[in-house]
Amino acid sequence: MGKISEEYIEQAERDLLHTYNRFHLVLDRGEGVYLYDIEGKKYLDFVAGIAVFALGYGDKVYNDALKGQVDKLLHTSNYYYNVPAVEAARKLKAFSGMDRVFFTNSGAEAVEGAIKTARKYGFLKDGRTDHEIIAMEHSFHGRTMGALSVTGNAHYREAFEPGIGNIRFATYNDYESVASLVNDRTIAILMETVQGEGGLTPASEDFLKKVRALCDEKGLLLILDEIQCGMGRTGYNFAWQRYGVKPDVMTCAKALGCGVPVGAFLMTEEVGQHSLVAGDHGTTYGGNPLACTAISTVLDRYEALHLTDHVREVAPYLEQRLDELVSRYDFILERRGTGLMQGLVLDHPVADTINAALEKGLILINAGPNILRFVPPLVIEKQHVDEMIDILDSCLQ
Ligand SMILES: *Cc1c(COP(=O)(O)O)cnc(C)c1O
Repeated sequence: MGKISEEYIEQAERDLLHTYNRFHLVLDRGEGVYLYDIEGKKYLDFVAGIAVFALGYGDKVYNDALKGQVDKLLHTSNYYYNVPAVEAARKLKAFSGMDRVFFTNSGAEAVEGAIKTARKYGFLKDGRTDHEIIAMEHSFHGRTMGALSVTGNAHYREAFEPGIGNIRFATYNDYESVASLVNDRTIAILMETVQGEGGLTPASEDFLKKVRALCDEKGLLLILDEIQCGMGRTGYNFAWQRYGVKPDVMTCAKALGCGVPVGAFLMTEEVGQHSLVAGDHGTTYGGNPLACTAISTVLDRYEALHLTDHVREVAPYLEQRLDELVSRYDFILERRGTGLMQGLVLDHPVADTINAALEKGLILINAGPNILRFVPPLVIEKQHVDEMIDILDSCLQ
């Protein structure tokens, strides 16, 4: 690490609240699927800002659209209409098959909105205010109080209890554990379609179909968190589209803005007609013209680049190359995940491997202490997979 980087890191550790153990890397600019640090060193990026920068860095259409909107109008209140928001909503509906959209500033806020939607839906249904939501163990939904309350990692919650209350945790991919928690106060079942932070675990088809049927039978809302696994990452616009089930409420963020901080929660018309109304929910920035220009242009670029199809082409190759590593090294226990959302489970902590990869110009991240996570820009090609595998292989040897 160079002297300039060292100085910035020292200053950062003096001034920023230490809520992250950061890698010693000061990133400066990006180009395609590569990032450069402030000393000019080049890195192949297999993190994409944690499943955010789907388009790669420097997409000219996207950058020009943002620049144009900066000069035109950055912000206006949600008390007025703006064209980028109308366009973004229309395109996101078509992309997702959902009916109603609320734009937020982040993933956690999208989860908050989904929780409020479920509580209001329940309130209108029977006037009670003690409805329960069933969430999953090992889930991750964000760091704000509501999102934290449904996050199935006791360590993240411990110091901040009590949470919002009336949340129960079931075992992911275990239908009986979900069904056994349903009672007359239950109003919704919430899960990631593919668990991200929790270890790159997809919902099994059998599990998701049974939970959907349970929701239909009992009049519960199925809320799917697609913040990490959505937006084409699994080779489907949204991961649930693979299963032949549809959620009642869905959250989205990360790649939705490709770097501009945005999120959204979406719902069916049925839920839209029986939940949040004027005065129930709001945001100053959410859905502003800059944010919605980002969303609208991202969705245009997905279409123009056939990005979801591209994932289906390149992901099997990534799986094949990762599987080769699994068979070559005894200490790699398994590969997990789907599409361009993959993990390698090691029998020991992965921090040293990640640091060694950084030294050699490859950016990787973990999911929990023992899992290497691969969530690259969706525009990667096979040659980038090979380049990544070569570096990783040399770090594993
Ligand atoms: C990242 C993530 C969130 C939280 O999103 P933020 O934008 O960080 O608030 C919620 N759910 C899932 C599945 C995520 O991966």
